Amino acid sequence: MKYIFVTGGVVSSLGKGLTAASIGTLLENRGLKVALQKFDPYLNVDPGTMSPFQHGEVYVLDDGAETDLDLGHYERFTSTELTRFNNLTSGQVYQSVLDKERRGDYLGKTVQVIPHVTDEIQNRIREIGDKTGADVVITEIGGTIGDIEGLPFVEAIREFALAADRDDVLFLHVTFVPFINAAGELKTKPTQQGVAKLREIGITPDVLVCRCEKPLTKELRQKLSLFCNVPYEAVIEEIDVEHSIYEVPLMLQCEGLDDLICKRLSLKTKEADMGHWKEVIRKLTTPRDRVRIGVVGKYVELQDAYKSVYEAVIHGGVANDCGIEIERVDAEDIEEKGAANVLRGCSGILIPGGFGERGVEGKIQATQYARENNIPYLGLCLGMQIATIEFARNMLQLKGAHSTEFDPGTDHPVIALLDEQQNVTDKGGTMRLGSQPCSLKPDSLAARLYGSGKIHERHRHRYEFNNAYREMFEAAGLMFSGTSPDGNLVEIVEVPGHPFFVASQFHPEFKSKPNKPHPLFSGFIEAAQACDHDKKV
Ligand code: GLN
Repeated sequence: MKYIFVTGGVVSSLGKGLTAASIGTLLENRGLKVALQKFDPYLNVDPGTMSPFQHGEVYVLDDGAETDLDLGHYERFTSTELTRFNNLTSGQVYQSVLDKERRGDYLGKTVQVIPHVTDEIQNRIREIGDKTGADVVITEIGGTIGDIEGLPFVEAIREFALAADRDDVLFLHVTFVPFINAAGELKTKPTQQGVAKLREIGITPDVLVCRCEKPLTKELRQKLSLFCNVPYEAVIEEIDVEHSIYEVPLMLQCEGLDDLICKRLSLKTKEADMGHWKEVIRKLTTPRDRVRIGVVGKYVELQDAYKSVYEAVIHGGVANDCGIEIERVDAEDIEEKGAANVLRGCSGILIPGGFGERGVEGKIQATQYARENNIPYLGLCLGMQIATIEFARNMLQLKGAHSTEFDPGTDHPVIALLDEQQNVTDKGGTMRLGSQPCSLKPDSLAARLYGSGKIHERHRHRYEFNNAYREMFEAAGLMFSGTSPDGNLVEIVEVPGHPFFVASQFHPEFKSKPNKPHPLFSGFIEAAQACDHDKKV
């Protein structure tokens, strides 16, 4: 088994996750089985309790693990199946070490960062290899080299390499080479210093991936090679992509990165066949059509808060050879200016998941606008709850209908706490999480889109549709097109007769890939295209 460790230097947000995922794409297309994992140095057990302001999106796996959004990149770029073991935080490491200490596993010893914490981390690296039977395990270390909290992880990979054969381990360091406008030059000094920090710990990178805005010249590559003690051909340029993040694997292939990795790790494989991937890129870069989709949320100013949603919408575009312009709409803006004024230019409206009351009324207004004006609508999780609240208020005339999450005393609790949640008090990892089965009504739009009567989708919620209101809704024309197999939990609602009004209690965005767009997103974009054409006629 071979191991690639991905570290990052100089600044955060370098796209280490994307780089790791892209290496995964290339190696898979060379016929290798890859496993990807992420180490996060923070002390939270998982990111499930963090705000999007802190952490961006929380990405949910089939097994219900709430994980770092980089795992979303891993799943979108490769076919690897991820579980809770693929994301390790310092919180989990310490929890496990302390449990062992209490059990008496270390009896007689002083429990220390080296070797007990670092052993725990190394075990996880081996475990992923054993569980997956992968040819190559790619481990990304979160944070930036030099962070105090990241040190045990970096020390652990150094120890791991010490015990392994030289051609079984590769260190890849992603760094930043800034362009200084006033000097008109790319600067290598931050990278030199970042790599020096890594070498202080005892790790010399085998490969340097340089994030930059402008191409690296031969001289700069030579300089980076000399000062960072990395072979010239292992200085790899990763310039900002023009159109799409899905271009990164192709760019790295052009730089010869996968050849270099295979040579260094003595992996004998065919060349990566990227034909299929290139067709995706073609549709992304020169689509035959273009639509604007409004995503109405409350963290719209953040790049990463709705990461998987934005990606899935783009995949829906790929399925229809259609470019997507995403308009990030602040729900509070709608409250202020009115839905029609804010959303007029959109051919599709999407309400993503969310928690807390802020912006909820704006989302309800956006939904009413989409439903009444025949604009394609896709609601995800909170988006489905909002759709039913809107329907209750405006079609059933249930004044003040609400979710008990936002108005515990409402006269019409059309959305209420799940039964299984009644006695739950802990906040971490206690929602209804992960993959659950769902049965589809045969004559529904959902069944037609999925092309199947039984599906599995990922969940992350505490509240659900209140069945006491089901008949009333049905009589007024809302269709419950997806439910749990026992019929108890509403999973999908739709409005028959509307060009596309579908909302799900689950999160379909977590299962969409550029080369396998999710049917709900493909259908949504197809309807948005039709709506756009109608507008123009
Ligand atoms: N806040 C809602 C609930 O807990 C919706 C959650 C979500 O959108 N992920 O049910």
